[in-house]
Amino acid sequence: MLETEVYSCMDNACIGWMRKDFVTDDLLCPMCGNEMTAEIRELPKI
Ligand SMILES: [Zn+2]
Repeated sequence: MLETEVYSCMDNACIGWMRKDFVTDDLLCPMCGNEMTAEIRELPKI
């Protein structure tokens, strides 16, 4: 596992998130269009 910077949706009901490397320029959730917030998650190495 690897600590990875991700952006996750601020809507608790939404599971949308993206790796920092792949976020869209406007930083909006790909699933619901809400704003996203940066956090660290442990993810499998790619
Ligand atoms: Zn969302």
